[in-house]
Amino acid sequence: MRIAVIPGDGIGKEVMEAAIFVMDRMNLPLKYEFYEAGDECLKKYGKALPDETLEACKKSDAVLFGAAGETAADVIVRLRQELQTYANVRPARALRGVNCLYPKTDILIVRENTECLYLGLEFQIGDVAEAIRVISKKASERIARFAFELAKKEGRRKVTALHKANVMKKTCGLFRDVCKEVAKNYPEIEFNEYYIDAACMYMVMDPYRFDVIVTTNMFGDIVSDLAAGLVGGLGLAPSANIGDKYAIFEPVHGAAFDIAGKGIANPTAMILTACMMLKHLKYLEEAKRIEKALEDAIYEGYRTRDIGGNMKTMEFAREVARRL
Ligand code: ATP
Repeated sequence: MRIAVIPGDGIGKEVMEAAIFVMDRMNLPLKYEFYEAGDECLKKYGKALPDETLEACKKSDAVLFGAAGETAADVIVRLRQELQTYANVRPARALRGVNCLYPKTDILIVRENTECLYLGLEFQIGDVAEAIRVISKKASERIARFAFELAKKEGRRKVTALHKANVMKKTCGLFRDVCKEVAKNYPEIEFNEYYIDAACMYMVMDPYRFDVIVTTNMFGDIVSDLAAGLVGGLGLAPSANIGDKYAIFEPVHGAAFDIAGKGIANPTAMILTACMMLKHLKYLEEAKRIEKALEDAIYEGYRTRDIGGNMKTMEFAREVARRL
């Protein structure tokens, strides 16, 4: 199987090296093909996402992505659109032993990936800047169905839609109505809805009321960082972008230039992201073994700086690999 690997910028390169080091231990028939994209690529070739990279992604069985810095909108946001990976799945699960606000949190956030304010339809006339928010019935139905199917597959009991339909009556109203309609097809799964602002408060005060969340693009981006904060930070948060044909796997964090080049980034998010990819490619057992090795290592106190330890990126990766 062909994996298009895009390490990208900043800590993307460092955590990618660590994740591939760990996966290599499993001796899987995966062929990693490395491609460039991001800020450095823009400087070098004048393009943040070269055609060669985009074409390679379309020919691969999965894309494994590290991080993009200032060019994120031109690289990862565009990649998600080009490959029509309409569902961004961002699990927020507390790992055993990690000191965090809510150690029993286990939320699956499903974020619509192809429209909303992130379409980048922005204009400025003089001193006034405008953005267009697009929400369609088709994309809303697709993401709502995806969320319920995922809930079913994962044995979850509830799907919660987040929106702001009392203010954005047309866009959020449409999204909410579609979610309600789709929910009728899944009587075995409970459905409820919250306004996004109230949901943020509930998430901080009582995240255990959430199981699967479905929401629009920008709300999903914000709420998934919030959820990552509840379970120990961005160094631990993986994600998958899934479409009917393609899939892109990337950690929730970005290039984190403040810590880049020092070899201290936590590779956990990237390793868990690689596990999501392995599961998608049907290497379920292998993914579970890596997850267990990683969780055991953290539980026993092997930790990078962001979660209270002093290990370097590759030291931690070697410890995980040693357990496999
Ligand atoms: P973006 O805007 O693309 O999300 P960013 O560089 O502004 O990216 P993030 O990379 O998302 O910000 O991360 C915010 C901060 O969280 C970083 O500056 C860093 O201090 C911390 N952080 C993120 N990822 C990790 C990691 N893997 N290990 C340790 N700390 C991290």
